[in-house]
Amino acid sequence: MKDVQFNPDDVSSYECFDCGTVVRATTAACCPDCGADMRNRRTPIE
Ligand SMILES: [Zn+2]
Repeated sequence: MKDVQFNPDDVSSYECFDCGTVVRATTAACCPDCGADMRNRRTPIE
């Protein structure tokens, strides 16, 4: 059984919904460039 665990110390990539800027950080609330929402770009491994 596989558990997906999010380590708070782990650095992930976040991509801006609006301008596509990608940042690597532990958390990303909003884009440093345009202030839009960011989404986690965690790559699914299948
Ligand atoms: Zn942006």
